[in-house]
Amino acid sequence: MRFGLHTPIGKGYEKAVAYAAELGCRTMQFFCGNPRGFRLTTPDPDAWARFAALRRKHDLLPSAVHTSYLVNLATERQDHFAASMALIAHDLELASSGEVAFVNTHLGSYGKRERAHGHRQVCRALSRLLEDIRPGVQLVLENSAGSGNLVGGTLEELGSFIHEVDHPQLAVCLDTAHAWAAGYKIDDAPGVEAFLDEVEQRIGLARVQMFHVNDTVVPLGGQRDRHHHIGAGLIGMAGFAALLDRAEMREKIAILETPGERAEDERNTAALRSILA
Ligand SMILES: [Zn+2]
Ligand SMILES: [Zn+2]
Repeated sequence: MRFGLHTPIGKGYEKAVAYAAELGCRTMQFFCGNPRGFRLTTPDPDAWARFAALRRKHDLLPSAVHTSYLVNLATERQDHFAASMALIAHDLELASSGEVAFVNTHLGSYGKRERAHGHRQVCRALSRLLEDIRPGVQLVLENSAGSGNLVGGTLEELGSFIHEVDHPQLAVCLDTAHAWAAGYKIDDAPGVEAFLDEVEQRIGLARVQMFHVNDTVVPLGGQRDRHHHIGAGLIGMAGFAALLDRAEMREKIAILETPGERAEDERNTAALRSILA
C-alpha cells in the first residue's frame, strides 16, 4: 500500500517532493490553493508540469488534490453552491493537466434544509461535474465526522451517492478519524472487519481509492473532527494494523493528515511503515 503525507507546497514543488521522498512516501496529497477560500489558483503551467515530472521521478504517483474546506454541494445559498462547483471543476481540470489521479473533496452541510432536497442537489452537482471530467482523474468523496448536518457521515449515505450518480470516475475516501467520530468502532480486528464488511455492502471496497489515516482522541461517536498521531489515539496501532494489513488495500493509497513538525511526520510515517512491513 502506498502511503504519503498531506504535504504543503507553499515553499515550492521541488521542496515538497524532496520532503515526501525523504520520508519514504510513495504518494502525496496537497492543496492547489487556499484551503479556506474559494479563489481559483492556477499555477504556472511550466512549474505545474515540472511538479508532475518530479512526482513521477520520485514514484509519488498516484497523488491527490484536496479541495477547499469551504466546498458545500448541499447548500441552499446559490453563490456558495456556484463557487463550490467552480472550485471542484477547476481542481479536476488542474489534476488532469498535472497527472494527479484523485481530487478529494468534502461534500459540505445540509444546514437547516430538508436532507432529501440537499441530497438530490448533491447528486445533480456530482453528475454535472462528472460530465466534463477528463480520463485519468477521479472525483473522490470524503466521509465526514457526521456532526449535525454534515453530508456523508455514514457509509450508507456515501454509497447512495455512488449508486445514484453511477459514474466510473466517482470514488470514495475514508478518513479513519472521521469514521471513528461518526461512530464506527475501528480500534480492533473485529471492529475493522465489521466496518469493511459494511463498506463492501454499502459502497463496494473497489470504489474506495483512498484512506486518510488519522488517529483521534475524540470519543467514539463524538462527531468532532480532530486528528491525532497514528497509534497515539483511540484507534491505536491495533486498529490501523487491522485496517491496512489486508490484501484489498494494496492498490489503494493512505494519506496522513496529522499536522506537525518533521519529527512528528517521521514518527507517523515510521508507524505506518512498521504496519505495512
Ligand atoms: Zn478532508
Ligand atoms: Zn479531519
